[in-house]
Amino acid sequence: MFNKILIANRGEIACRVAATARRLGIKTVAVYSEADAGAKHVAVCDEAVLIGPAAAKESYLCGDKIIAVALATGAEAIHPGYGFLSENADFADACKAAGLVFIGPPASSMRAMGSKSAAKSLMEHADVPLVPGYHGDEQDPEFLQAQGDRIGYPVLLKASAGGGGKGMRVIEKSEDFKAALASCKREAISSFGDDKVLAEKYLTRPRHIEIQVFADSQGNCVYLHERDCSVQRRHQKVLEEAPAPNMPPERRAAMGQAAVAAAKAVGYVGAGTVEFIANQDGSFYFMEMNTRLQVEHPVTEMITGTDLVEWQLRVAFGEPLPMAQHDMAIHGHSIEARIYAENPEKGFLPSIGTLRHMDTPDAVSFELGAGANGDPAPVRIDSGVREGDAISPFYDPMIAKLIVWGADRTQALARMSTALAEFRIVGLATNIAFLKRLVEGSAFAQADLDTGLIERNGDTLFPAPAAAPLGALAFGAVALIAAEKQAAVAVSANRDDPFGNALGWRLNGNYRRQLSFADDYTAGTEQKDYKLGVTYHTGGWHLDLDGVEADMELLARDGAELSIKLGAASMHGAVRRDGENFHVFTGGRHFVLAYNDPMAHAGELETAGGRLTAPMPGKVVAVLASKGQQVKKGDPLVIMEAMKMEHTIAAPADGLVEEILYQVGDQVADGAPLLAFAVE
Ligand code: ADP
Repeated sequence: MFNKILIANRGEIACRVAATARRLGIKTVAVYSEADAGAKHVAVCDEAVLIGPAAAKESYLCGDKIIAVALATGAEAIHPGYGFLSENADFADACKAAGLVFIGPPASSMRAMGSKSAAKSLMEHADVPLVPGYHGDEQDPEFLQAQGDRIGYPVLLKASAGGGGKGMRVIEKSEDFKAALASCKREAISSFGDDKVLAEKYLTRPRHIEIQVFADSQGNCVYLHERDCSVQRRHQKVLEEAPAPNMPPERRAAMGQAAVAAAKAVGYVGAGTVEFIANQDGSFYFMEMNTRLQVEHPVTEMITGTDLVEWQLRVAFGEPLPMAQHDMAIHGHSIEARIYAENPEKGFLPSIGTLRHMDTPDAVSFELGAGANGDPAPVRIDSGVREGDAISPFYDPMIAKLIVWGADRTQALARMSTALAEFRIVGLATNIAFLKRLVEGSAFAQADLDTGLIERNGDTLFPAPAAAPLGALAFGAVALIAAEKQAAVAVSANRDDPFGNALGWRLNGNYRRQLSFADDYTAGTEQKDYKLGVTYHTGGWHLDLDGVEADMELLARDGAELSIKLGAASMHGAVRRDGENFHVFTGGRHFVLAYNDPMAHAGELETAGGRLTAPMPGKVVAVLASKGQQVKKGDPLVIMEAMKMEHTIAAPADGLVEEILYQVGDQVADGAPLLAFAVE
């Protein structure tokens, strides 16, 4: 086996590869950019070498620098992870030329599968079923439109060099063909440097089912069953599971054999994934092959009891596959949720910032091994960040992959829902609440799966913002009062001072105060103010909020964890304070309540101009208003671009633009005021 490998990646996958290497006694070399000097992957590897500035094309995409580091540190092989250089055939060739092993397939297999069009031609010859369409070289618009007409609408255009859900256009009718083609080609050339497109039948209500394959250099090739990745947003995976619900064994075998045929057709070696699109009736077609380890590989590991990174290392070293096809059983059910720093309510806009608090469910990270009775661990977390780390604008804003295993799908679902409720993050927006609604929603629970599941269930997945319940405010109040008491106790520690006692006891009857909280601002939600009346009495408090009243008692407190009795109900929750914001986690939900401290803001005038600040670091791409201009509420004022997405800053009310503080092309920091605005 190798003595030392270099991991040419970052984040969770670099940590994941390092965990297996450590278990096998293989030394690891990390590479990192300036932005990642303090990153987890640097800490978990045996050595780490700086390779350049934050921008990936000056660091993680610099194959020559990485090869030089491998040679200088004595690494024998390079594991590329996923993304970055993992599907770059030239890099694989360069490794070989430098005498290093590229832990992945031969460059020729990557080239064969790199173009969706070329891959389809190959698959056609290997008798792998294809979606009806056109994937030839002829790119004349008239010709392509005639192909679209022949295929029948709706038709899907794809960039042949595309990936990550980019460069795709759905066309509903022939008249729209040329415009969609032009726009698809524009995106293809700017994203992939190649404007070749293919056209295929657009399936309605399809499922995305992919097969994990593995081949060794002795000519063995097996499939490790399927993953269902149908739950997607904008063609990007959100939840993945294995096995696919309602998969008859004969179809599993047929898809597995088709995937093995696809791998053999390109002389494949190593881990690969053959993606199929399937109709509800079970008919399936080849979409593409990913010539690397996938993000969602853990669900396969959970149900097959394998370590796919270990297999990759063994195969790259020249060993045969550890298992034969007939040994490949399925044990239980596994689901993965991708936890992202993003704001689903704001169109999944990435959220940048520091993970000020991160509480995770009880879980093992990969290296810690399995659960009871030889079963896999019920909960596994693969993450490249720790509490205190930042999610930066330079890379994918993934926080963690949360993976659960259950004896069956029902148990896995229940575990996922509990684990999501225990995943508590303060400091940036996350998709956790959205994921929880998704896994608890009836469509996913009943395995009514297709790629349109999220769009179709928008009403329940994106509920209208509702007022925080009394229970959430009760936790905020208890945490606040406890903090006050602690501060008072600290002040009076060496004095016998009755006024240091903040219990609220008053000689003349019960003391009542009013606490003012507000929902934290998020675009599109109405900000609501809460005036919570708190009357102190022996042993507890009486709360009143907008005519709803209840007695409250603090039953137990352990750091941030609180148990209270509210009316007749016992409730458990946690409160994390971040400045004036009280993050209340209870009942699997997360409420952000901004405390309006009457002392802190005495004499300070609230600026009514709303927050015309940059929601994240980025570049100003358009300024749509000018100094002195009267605007209406909702008018777009400035457009920013960050993380390859545009974000429009709109007028919060009717008013006057007093000053524009940035110009097109300027880089702005997170939270920087973009313009001065006066509300009318
Ligand atoms: P990428 O390489 O960008 O990920 P894929 O070819 O893998 O592109 O397709 C991504 C997703 O787009 C699929 O998972 C599926 O949801 C959808 N998709 C692809 N082809 C079709 C099709 N012919 N009909 C309907 N949906 C499709």
